[in-house]
Amino acid sequence: MTHPELTLSSEVKNVTGVGSARAKMFASRSIRTVEDLLYYAPFRYEDRCQMISVHDLRPGQTATIFVKVLSCGLVRTRRGKFIYDLSAGDASGVQPGGLIRCIWFNASYLERSKTFRAGQHVFFYGKAERDAYGTGNLVITQPRFEILVDSVPRASNSLEIGRITPIYEAIGPLSPVVIRRLVWAALENIGDRIPECLPPSIIRRRNLPDRAGALRQMHFPPPDTPLDALASFRTPAQQRMIFEEFFAIGVAMALKRRQLKWLPGIAVEINDRVREAIKRFLPFHPTAAQKRVLKEIVDDMRSSHPMSRLLQGDVGSGKTLVALEAAVVAIENGSQVAIMAPTEVLATQHYLYCKRLLSPLGYQPALLTGSQSAREKLQIKNLLKSGIIPLVVGTHALIEQDVEFARLALAIVDEQHRFGVVQRQNLVRKGPAPHVLVMTATPIPRTYALAAYGDLDISIINEMPPGRTPVLTRVLSESDRARTLNFIRSRILAGEQAYVICPLVEESDKLNLRPAIRIHEHLAKDVFPELRVGLLHGRLPGEEKESVMERFKTGEIQVLVSTTVVEVGVDVPNATVMLIEHAERFGLAQLHQLRGRIGRGAAKSYCFLMSGGDAGEDANERLRALADTQDGFRIAELDFQLRGPGEFLGTRQSGIPAFRIANLLRDRDILEQARREAFEFVERGASADELDDFTRQLQARWPGRYSLARLG
Ligand code: ADP
Ligand code: MG
Repeated sequence: MTHPELTLSSEVKNVTGVGSARAKMFASRSIRTVEDLLYYAPFRYEDRCQMISVHDLRPGQTATIFVKVLSCGLVRTRRGKFIYDLSAGDASGVQPGGLIRCIWFNASYLERSKTFRAGQHVFFYGKAERDAYGTGNLVITQPRFEILVDSVPRASNSLEIGRITPIYEAIGPLSPVVIRRLVWAALENIGDRIPECLPPSIIRRRNLPDRAGALRQMHFPPPDTPLDALASFRTPAQQRMIFEEFFAIGVAMALKRRQLKWLPGIAVEINDRVREAIKRFLPFHPTAAQKRVLKEIVDDMRSSHPMSRLLQGDVGSGKTLVALEAAVVAIENGSQVAIMAPTEVLATQHYLYCKRLLSPLGYQPALLTGSQSAREKLQIKNLLKSGIIPLVVGTHALIEQDVEFARLALAIVDEQHRFGVVQRQNLVRKGPAPHVLVMTATPIPRTYALAAYGDLDISIINEMPPGRTPVLTRVLSESDRARTLNFIRSRILAGEQAYVICPLVEESDKLNLRPAIRIHEHLAKDVFPELRVGLLHGRLPGEEKESVMERFKTGEIQVLVSTTVVEVGVDVPNATVMLIEHAERFGLAQLHQLRGRIGRGAAKSYCFLMSGGDAGEDANERLRALADTQDGFRIAELDFQLRGPGEFLGTRQSGIPAFRIANLLRDRDILEQARREAFEFVERGASADELDDFTRQLQARWPGRYSLARLG
């Protein structure tokens, strides 16, 4: 049943079987058009070509079986728990007679929902095991299932049986079975009206299957498709769909880059005066890595096009110093510099650092944050506008409408992952075309960097300043607490300082965690009554935060109880001990970043990861991995693998596109290839027509994503 008017851009409700109710459910997952539906890929496949009969099923085997329900219902165990118990007989027709049980724990919902009835035909997928009651039958615990609506499928032309069946993630009440039928209907309806979208030259070069065929095979693979290739999304059809997605984003990024290269930037000049200024303010010899990276940055700034660069390096590798060198270059060229930091604590600290370091040069930096008085802010804004202030450090306050610069040549965004793409853009817009330097707080995996910052050039500091002793890291449990607190006391009596980090500020009803306020009280009163214990968290008013930080810096506060507000960039070299409460609650990258607050001086430093009682073995293993290495790039990679792209760095607004088919972890090799092809295509390969065509398509198909990628 083709549907003569249906095209990829038709609304999904025009597909046979989709009414307005279903269209609404689809919309909840941003599936609005036929194309959106066809790009909703199965997340796995089941081989139902050769159905295995219950009779042939062996203990330990994971398989799909096709059975008829004989009886089902809730049974109560001797311990008073409820188990949903279902018995079924083979219906595969291969070898009749086999019986099997399926059970679900605590599943009274299955009873309430009347999901199963005797006589139904059902597919079960799961691992068969010997029945613990010694009946000789097999049992599958909590199997996945699919209930057939018609009694017995016609063997031919069924979407459910006799084929490799695609399994979709349910969308609310839209079950995998329903989605499968609707995708099938969409493919039938649209017939041959699925035009190719990749440029012909790319299809030829990479020898890719065409789009229509690839889409069909991704959903309904032919019977001879190797299952392991399907499972790992490595069939030519799947790879082509993944490539397509990465290629489109790659082209958007390459176009954005090219656009930047066309903009006239503010070219700086390097002469003896500039060199002299840098020499005069540098408090120490830069490392080789810092020198290399500074050269990359300055080379960009000398060109007549704006720089767009990401500076990566481990915590404490000296990124800030490099940024300040770049700032001095800009200022000596008569321009202004803005540094944006995500928190007030960090902005203030950067400001003080700049003031201290740049004072030999006679610059007057300014600080602009939300908590300043309106008068103070107005004064700074006026001085910025008239060009008198050469360098301003600030929070989001910097991107407010009325902040204007006389000649902004360099915009530095620190700890970029805390900011959205739009905020970065808003800072950049404060000048006609300033050079942009984005700094990450911690290293990020290459795949992630390419996807999130693929439009930027990347500089990496892969070396630590000299004189660092590695931080000794230990995973501890509650029984080690007393000993650890004693150890902390001894370090402090030796003149050093300590952090105690907690995940929460206040008591929470839901989480059984030790919050900062309570820990502070306990430490100050009961544990370290003779020491000066301070408290820092995000809910303190701005001045109080500043004063606490200041007192910690001067050594007046000896033990600082804090939430993760100290995570970013805080620099107190005399602090040598860090105790992290409920360390299992944090991601590895974040823990590494926290740990980077210590080990900044010459004295030996210690990081204690206190893991909660119910943390579990997995969590503890994760923590031990952190204890074993200090290489931020390795930790980032590990964290990325463990937590997936979405949760990495604990943020979802980092500007990383939401991929429909591709998966950054699984498909990193395709990302690299597609990106190379895309840049090649934009910079050299494409004919003007091909590029125009593709650009137009990009804009039509991904209006939101493309505009995000286009500005910077
Ligand atoms: P990051 O921003 O990369 O975390 P910072 O720029 O804050 O690191 O530097 C961490 C510490 O190391 C600071 O105290 C800084 O003054 C110091 N530092 C930076 N570069 C050097 C260097 N080349 N030699 C010695 N110390 C350095
Ligand atoms: Mg920093």
